Amino acid sequence: MRLLTVFLALLSSLVTFKTLSAEKIIIAHRGASGYLPEHTLAGKAMAYAMGAHYIEQDVVMTKDDALIVLHDITLDRTTDVSEKFPNRIRDNGRYYAIDFTLEEIRSLSATEGFRLRGDERVQGYQNRFPMNSSSFSVSTLEEEIQLIQGLNKSTGKDIGIYPEIKQPKFHRDEGKDISTAVVRLLKEYGYLSKSDKVFLQTFSFEELKEIKTNIFPEVGIEINLIQLIGNNTTYPWIFEEGGMKKLANFADGIGPEKGLVISRESTASNVQITSLVSRAHAAGLKVHPYTYRLDPGQVPDYAGNFDELLRKHFQDADVDGVFTDFPDKAIQFLQSN
Ligand code: CA
Repeated sequence: MRLLTVFLALLSSLVTFKTLSAEKIIIAHRGASGYLPEHTLAGKAMAYAMGAHYIEQDVVMTKDDALIVLHDITLDRTTDVSEKFPNRIRDNGRYYAIDFTLEEIRSLSATEGFRLRGDERVQGYQNRFPMNSSSFSVSTLEEEIQLIQGLNKSTGKDIGIYPEIKQPKFHRDEGKDISTAVVRLLKEYGYLSKSDKVFLQTFSFEELKEIKTNIFPEVGIEINLIQLIGNNTTYPWIFEEGGMKKLANFADGIGPEKGLVISRESTASNVQITSLVSRAHAAGLKVHPYTYRLDPGQVPDYAGNFDELLRKHFQDADVDGVFTDFPDKAIQFLQSN
């Protein structure tokens, strides 16, 4: 009886003092993109100052093989390309970064993202930084790494990078091996092993396997790889028995859409945590879901507010990190929980 009492006391103290592990990470999704235009150096500096542990880069290639930081393989949504180069439009009405030289892309103004309604530009997130104001540009991956490593030197911190190979098959079809170029650049900047502060991510399992099996050995580095997962239909085998184990032969973690961690069908009284995280953890994989936003309509009803959304994912579902457009809010959450 006495032993049981001691045991229960110990258990309750463990529960009382259980805090979110210092291992949990906040990844600034496209920078502090909730506050400044995505993938601008200003937005990356802001994310850095807000205390993000990792800062994300989406990477695409230009006509002259420069690696630039851009979410879309097209320039339409986040630059004034249609005004500066109207005759460079493809038949499908889009302007592809791969059709432009780095010098041409440097001449563009970057802006908060917008979409076209007829001829009118409508800002994607109304409450964010006003589109077409101030002065921003598209930067290279190298410039962004220099910014983050420069800040690491001047602040004494060690903030990581989290580059994504965008649409590798599109690049290969256009005759470009974007992955090898990215991996070479990472090596040049000292990202060599799994203990270095970098995760390399892609949605393509074929490309991830190619990177792990051939590109890493050729270039002579081996860093952490993340398989992004947008749904359960592109690679259904990942969701089947033994799928995570198979994936773990190539990847160090997964970056699932957050609805794969807690079902979109969830309600406040019936939160449905899927088996994804526990199955990934059992296979030794980290889990970094995306994307956590607090713009109107972006917090699922089952959570009610942003902090509760993070609590459910970090504490209840036990994810290891999150991609967020609002790194300050997520850092505050980790510090107060
Ligand atoms: Ca991305």
